[in-house]
Amino acid sequence: MVRERSRVRLSLSANKENKENMAKKGNRVVIYFECSVCGRKNYTSRKNNNNTKDKLTLNKFCPKCVKHTEHKEIKK
Ligand SMILES: [Zn+2]
Repeated sequence: MVRERSRVRLSLSANKENKENMAKKGNRVVIYFECSVCGRKNYTSRKNNNNTKDKLTLNKFCPKCVKHTEHKEIKK
């Protein structure tokens, strides 16, 4: 007589792939923020060219104009 046992098989797939954002190097560029009134470069920043393709415009304080002006992004 053959007895059949019911087997419970637990298949634990502990295959957690914890892929973090693999940021590639070389896409980050240095940008400057230039006062649109006097043209003075007051701020520098860095951005990823892959994520941010459009040009940035910030309302920042310009020491030359002594007020907040529109600062446009320019590349070196
Ligand atoms: Zn200015």
